[in-house]
Amino acid sequence: MASELEPEVPAIDQSLLECSAEETAGKWLQSTDLTREVYQHLAHYVPKIYCRGPNPFPQKEDMLAQHVLLGPLEWYLCGEDPAFGFPKLEQANKPSHLCGRVFKVGEPTYSCRDCAVDPTCVLCMECFLGSIHRDHRYRMTTSGGGGFCDCGDTEAWKEGPYCEKHELNTSETEEEEDPLIHLPEDVIARTYSIFAIMFHYAVEILTWEKESELPADLETVEKSDTYYCMLFNDEVHTYEQVIYTLQKAVNCTQKEAIGFATTVDRDGRRSVRYGDFQYCEQAKSVIVRNTSRQTKPLKVQVMHSSIVAHQNFGLKLLSWLGSIIGYSDGLRRILCQVGLQEGPDGENSSLVDRLMLNDSKLWKGARSVYHQLFMSSLLMDLKYKKLFAVRFAKNYERLQSDYVTDDHDREFSVADLSVQIFTVPSLARMLITEENLLTIIIKTFMDHLRHRDAQGRFQFERYTALQAFKFRRVQSLILDLKYVLISKPTEWSDGLRQKFLEGFDAFLELLKCMQGMDPITRQVGQHIEMEPEWEAAFTLQMKLTHVISMMQDWCALDEKVLIEAYKKCLAVLTQCHGGFTDGEQPITLSICGHSVETIRYCVSQEKVSIHLPVSRLLAGLHVLLSKSEVAYKFPELLPLSELSPPMLIEHPLRCLVLCAQVHAGMWRRNGFSLVNQIYYYHNVKCRREMFDKDIIMLQTGVSMMDPNHFLMIMLSRFELYQIFSAPDCGKRLSSEITHKDVVQQNNTLIEEMLYLIIMLVGERFTPGVGQVNATDEIKREIIHQLSIKPMAHSELVKSLPEDENKETGMESVIEAVAHFKKPGLTGKGMYELKPECAKEFNLYFYHFSRAEQSKAEEAQRKLKRQNREDTALPPPILPPFCPLFASLVNILQSDVMLCVMRTVLQWAVEHTGCAWSESMLQRVLHLIGMALQEEKQHLENVMEEHVVTFTFTQKISKPGEAPNNSPSILAMLETLQNAPYLEVHKDMIRWILKTFNAIKKMRESSSTSPVAETEETITEESSRDKDKAERKRKAEIARLRREKVMAQMSEMQRHFIDENKELFQQTLGLEASNSAVLDNSPMVSDVTLTALGPAQTQVPKQRQFVTCILCQEEQEVKVESKAMVLAAFVQRSTVLSKNRSKGIQDPEKHDPLFMHPDLSCGTHTGSCGHIMHAHCWQRYFDSVQAKEQRRQQRLRLHTSYDVENGEFLCPLCECLSNTVIPLLLPPRNIFNKLNFSDQPNLTQWIRTISQQINALQILRKEESIPNIASSKNSKNMDKLQLPEGFRPDFHPKNPYSDSIKEMLTTFGTAVYKVGLKVHPNEEDPRVPLMCWGSCAYTIQSIERILSDEDKPLFGPLPCRLDDCLRSLTRFAAAHWTVALLSVVQGHFCKLFASLVPDDSYGDLPCILDIDMFHLLVGLVLAFPALHCQDFSGISLGTGDLHIFHLVTMAHIVQILLTSCTEANGMDQETPAGEEELAVLALYKTLRQCTGSVLKEIPSGWHLWRSVRAGIMPFLKCSALFFHYLSGVPAPPEIQVAGTRHFEHLCNYLSLPSNLISLFQENSEITKVLIESWCQNSEVKRYLNGERDAISYPRESNKLIGLPEDYSSLINQASNFSCPKSGGDKSRAPTLCLVCGTLLCSQSYCCQTELEGEDVGACTAHTYSCGSGVGIFLRVRECQVLFLAGKTKGCFYSPPYLDDYGETDQGLRRGNPLHLCKERFKKIQRLWQQHSVTEEIGHAQEANQTLVGVDWQHL
Ligand SMILES: [Zn+2]
Ligand SMILES: [Zn+2]
Ligand SMILES: [Zn+2]
Ligand SMILES: [Zn+2]
Ligand SMILES: [Zn+2]
Ligand SMILES: [Zn+2]
Ligand SMILES: [Zn+2]
Repeated sequence: MASELEPEVPAIDQSLLECSAEETAGKWLQSTDLTREVYQHLAHYVPKIYCRGPNPFPQKEDMLAQHVLLGPLEWYLCGEDPAFGFPKLEQANKPSHLCGRVFKVGEPTYSCRDCAVDPTCVLCMECFLGSIHRDHRYRMTTSGGGGFCDCGDTEAWKEGPYCEKHELNTSETEEEEDPLIHLPEDVIARTYSIFAIMFHYAVEILTWEKESELPADLETVEKSDTYYCMLFNDEVHTYEQVIYTLQKAVNCTQKEAIGFATTVDRDGRRSVRYGDFQYCEQAKSVIVRNTSRQTKPLKVQVMHSSIVAHQNFGLKLLSWLGSIIGYSDGLRRILCQVGLQEGPDGENSSLVDRLMLNDSKLWKGARSVYHQLFMSSLLMDLKYKKLFAVRFAKNYERLQSDYVTDDHDREFSVADLSVQIFTVPSLARMLITEENLLTIIIKTFMDHLRHRDAQGRFQFERYTALQAFKFRRVQSLILDLKYVLISKPTEWSDGLRQKFLEGFDAFLELLKCMQGMDPITRQVGQHIEMEPEWEAAFTLQMKLTHVISMMQDWCALDEKVLIEAYKKCLAVLTQCHGGFTDGEQPITLSICGHSVETIRYCVSQEKVSIHLPVSRLLAGLHVLLSKSEVAYKFPELLPLSELSPPMLIEHPLRCLVLCAQVHAGMWRRNGFSLVNQIYYYHNVKCRREMFDKDIIMLQTGVSMMDPNHFLMIMLSRFELYQIFSAPDCGKRLSSEITHKDVVQQNNTLIEEMLYLIIMLVGERFTPGVGQVNATDEIKREIIHQLSIKPMAHSELVKSLPEDENKETGMESVIEAVAHFKKPGLTGKGMYELKPECAKEFNLYFYHFSRAEQSKAEEAQRKLKRQNREDTALPPPILPPFCPLFASLVNILQSDVMLCVMRTVLQWAVEHTGCAWSESMLQRVLHLIGMALQEEKQHLENVMEEHVVTFTFTQKISKPGEAPNNSPSILAMLETLQNAPYLEVHKDMIRWILKTFNAIKKMRESSSTSPVAETEETITEESSRDKDKAERKRKAEIARLRREKVMAQMSEMQRHFIDENKELFQQTLGLEASNSAVLDNSPMVSDVTLTALGPAQTQVPKQRQFVTCILCQEEQEVKVESKAMVLAAFVQRSTVLSKNRSKGIQDPEKHDPLFMHPDLSCGTHTGSCGHIMHAHCWQRYFDSVQAKEQRRQQRLRLHTSYDVENGEFLCPLCECLSNTVIPLLLPPRNIFNKLNFSDQPNLTQWIRTISQQINALQILRKEESIPNIASSKNSKNMDKLQLPEGFRPDFHPKNPYSDSIKEMLTTFGTAVYKVGLKVHPNEEDPRVPLMCWGSCAYTIQSIERILSDEDKPLFGPLPCRLDDCLRSLTRFAAAHWTVALLSVVQGHFCKLFASLVPDDSYGDLPCILDIDMFHLLVGLVLAFPALHCQDFSGISLGTGDLHIFHLVTMAHIVQILLTSCTEANGMDQETPAGEEELAVLALYKTLRQCTGSVLKEIPSGWHLWRSVRAGIMPFLKCSALFFHYLSGVPAPPEIQVAGTRHFEHLCNYLSLPSNLISLFQENSEITKVLIESWCQNSEVKRYLNGERDAISYPRESNKLIGLPEDYSSLINQASNFSCPKSGGDKSRAPTLCLVCGTLLCSQSYCCQTELEGEDVGACTAHTYSCGSGVGIFLRVRECQVLFLAGKTKGCFYSPPYLDDYGETDQGLRRGNPLHLCKERFKKIQRLWQQHSVTEEIGHAQEANQTLVGVDWQHL
């Protein structure tokens, strides 16, 4: 039954194709009831076109819809063929000067920090590049989708609103012109009617809620039983849950389920089953049942197919409308009119209203389609934007409530359009004035936040997860509030004033609910049971911070508003304080004859709250009053008399006391929640509207009351009143027997209180408090941040408060206070404080945390010591207070203050036990210093005749009063100056006394004639000098002592090095070094050094001793001793590849005998150079393995190394390794028979070798026929003429110890296993080939690195590379001794045959397809296997030489064939030299042999140049190879950079420097060889242009070129769509830096299967592009990604820096980023050196969390 209902793709109905658009439109034009006519058409055709089966066919549907449904509409609208009609409309149109480009996900957007009205104003890339802002300070972000370009919007930009392109469209007649005048009357009429019908249809069907019934006028007679089971998106269920459920419910494969889930997530709904009602219902119930267990079930509907059809067409229609209005602004206006026209049901019945109000019921896809239509219509038409804004504001409450209860993200809600409307200043102002928007937003917000306590305050304790979820969503309303306030009015109308103040009232109501929320009580006895909820309240505070600041900014703009707001705020605060003094009897405090009444209250015993937004707002407004001087102009307008200073200070003071008590450890039992709250109270994100304002409120209070009263209240709140009021307070310890903890606690409280007084007097950098401006404020912040340490730009930004535009104002002042230091290859650019700013440093700066304060103190003292100054850090000179705060300074000279100072000094003088602390004293000294600075300032600035009332110096000179009769403060300071226990503070006390004297002098000089006070100063002066001299002497003694100690230490060090010489040598470079030692020996220096051949320079035998890093035992490297090994890492590599697509297809069948010159896949060996005994290593490795197995049983965690694959970390340096290489002596010397007489020339040698090969081949053939008797065998042997001296039955003895043999096999097998990715098999004939290949490949890759960096071949090679190459070459040369002789001989024969023709092989590559260096290494290293049976007297060296010459000749021919084609126009001027004539002759020969297909090149000069250039890499590699093989040191000439090395290389390699003479010397054989090489069919195909070949020299591979400007990469990536899911934007576009491919990383869509596991696109790509290793750039994150294999990866710092020398990983800051070439080179070098895997290993070892990342899914 069911299967019948799932038919094949239905064939296209013929009637559809026959339907003519023109005819239909014609019919409509005649019709009287157009609506009915059109509806009938739709009712008939829509179900026939859309949704005709289980799967949609979008292309077919679109084609038919255009033909049958949209076509008639277009004909009707134009009244003619739309192909002509629309272009006409477009031409008549005067296009808007708005850009309005709607952003795609991930598209780059730009905001100008100088000119944008607010940060939401953005430009698209095209407009940005054509605007003036590209030279301004701009910020770059990537769009999250939605939103559009604001180019052309004059309200969005303070300057340069148009880009070049859109500027053209601005004309004299600005926006007021009606666009309809450009349209013909009849078109207008028809457009109206057709838009009205179609828009109405779309809205009706999209908002249709019935599941099986259509609107009456769309119902058709016959109705099929076809339904869809429609699955809807929600944000509750995960991808995995949905996929799993679908597989169960509709019986689909995992792949299909992934497809469904992806579409549901993207579009919001997807039909998952098609069939009759029953069938769909059944699937629905399974889905619901399966997903309802923990959460609410997935939403599923069974819908009739015709409804789905109409809805799909409805969406299509909206997109169509959006594109049609693009032709003409007139059409757009008509659509706007239609949309906003009120419907028959009155209010809220326009189509636009209906859509908005149904928003939360629509699925994602439908929402985004109509949102886009709104953006391209209503928001692009300046007139209708206003009308739409009004509709939006009227519906605001409903829309927000819908959004709050909906679960989709905000970007999918129509509420999100608020940003487009509210940020337009004129609209925002209009909505405030006319729609009372401020009040609406705040009230809506309050309505949704209902959890209140008994006093009506917010209460977040015990709120549920659902409430928390709702709370998060409600926060977006605060954002709306911010948008509305972000642009401040320049002019105020009465209406605006009135509505703003109404909004302010509502805002005060909101703050009132926060005032005193989350109160806490000190926990005594036991610890709190549950940490109370605190985050919600702080989140609210944090989110509101900018709004509170902006409210104040608005008030500051208008005096009337400010005064009214001040009054309102005060009234609300008074309400909050209602019942404040009720009940309790006040208590009386008195000290020094002053007394005051206050309430009885103890922070440590009663409730206290950190949240006091109303008090703080009042403090803010008070400062504004002070700044604006309104308080002086119209004092009668202000309710100043209503202010009760004790009431104002009460709550802020409690809050600060709470902080002090927490700091003193009194609230320990209240847990972390309190600690966190205190932290955020001071934090840069909150402090502006919390801590800072509390300080201001206290300053306000002090300035309005008797400072003595204030101090007494403060003492009382700090619970210190008893200590300072007691008459004998100086003796508090002797009289009290108190617990030590309490004393400690009180000490801290005293310190905190003194600190608070310092802040109250010293913090004058808020404009309005002190006479400063905003620049001074920010400068001071920066100076203090940089006093701690030099900082990077981003660090500094983070430590400064941001305003609502995310600006700190730092850039405008930073130059004045700091120097910028550029970054190096790593690290960041840094700002350093200018030295002249140090004098502004205030040790008690109020935004320092404790840790910062002590760091800053240390740094500043150090600086002073470096400058040889005294280390006192006196208080800086401060700006004067504003008049409203001016009386505040008197607190410093108030009696109570002096009493406190005296008391503390008294304690310090007596210094008994723990009754006082140094910090306490330090603070008192600072306060005294401040008072002196103040007095000095007063004296300096005093006007004539005025008396300075600040007389601190006089007061501290007076002794204390009875009954104590204590000495004066000054006297005590003089006493303390010599106290031995106050060494640190001496400089400060000295500074105080000096300043005191200076002031005294000033006073005296101003009042009376100068008195001879000099004597005192002189004595003072001289005693100071004496003191100075004494200190200098001491310093000198200290310096000498230090030097002596240093000398001793370095002596000891030397001794230590001597004792542990080997260890040091080894770390400095093993055998440091062979060559260096030899260079000094006279024997070598006179001779020309030659690395191979019979003339090879004889190297004296060197004994080599090495030490095992594991057991520290020393051992000599010898043939017969225990093996020593180097930790090594073998990996496949494509770094040198010229053909990335190739790779190894079938590892089991792959034959690595010949390396193709494209070097498509090689095996690289690296080593950290650390040496171990083979057995020590084995023991170590076994233990690692055992440990890992135990660990894996417990928890299957990845480690940075994979033990199962033989990986381990070098025990010394933790470098990732996967095998070991044995250390060997030069292996050639072991087999060399020193017989140099009468060696054959090349021709003879080739003949001999060919005979030997021939003999071997016959023998092999014999052996391969098993059933031939041995006698017969021997008979054949006789028949076979064995060449003279050749003994194929001879098997040489392996000279190596068993241990070395074992390691030869171990390493060989490892190379084979990793290189081919096969199971280890030590007997596989390919093992020796892989070893030789790895040797050749590694040498080639190192040669490339050296050439690229212009480094000499034998220059100071890093010792680990040197060690690695030496061991690897010698190993490869010795490996044949552990392989089967016949196998190695077989390899040799075949390799040899590729150059010397031999009929027995049919499958040899032509010389174009052989990498000659690989061939050379293979031949040379296989040769001993043949040579060991040769007793004819030919030396091994002769063979090496001839092999080398032969291969070199082949390479020359290879180069001439492939690399000399580009004819160079320049002819040489000098007559042709020997080489040039020779190469020309050779080239002629080649042309003859190839039948003249080879192009004629007349210039020998050009040919010779090409040959030389082409063969250089080969010669260099060969030199390295023979150097390590033979141990012959390199001639000094090629150890230095710069010079031309060609001749020296030739000498070293026994080559004539005229390479062509090789051919001439061996002309006999040359001709035969050249003919055989050239007449190969592949060579012919190449010369005929039928195939390609590699040419020489091969260029080095580089990483791809990156653009200078990072945004062009972002743009490129935003145009990239996922290759698998049909045009979807990729979420994590990732660029392969090796080949430039863009990939869709980290997503389901592009996962593929690799070796039976699902892997992401990046991992899959590494296997095809980098043989498992990859380097990527994650474009949206601006992050480099290293991957190796499936489990290894790490992030690496990107090569892009901003102007401050910093990277921006995650693109969070958005500063423009530019390519840093050096850093990119560094990444490239890591790649070329094959160090990526090692880098990952180190990163993972350093950061274990990287190990847990699922790298394979990226
Ligand atoms: Zn634009
Ligand atoms: Zn533009
Ligand atoms: Zn600008
Ligand atoms: Zn050892
Ligand atoms: Zn190591
Ligand atoms: Zn994808
Ligand atoms: Zn790639």
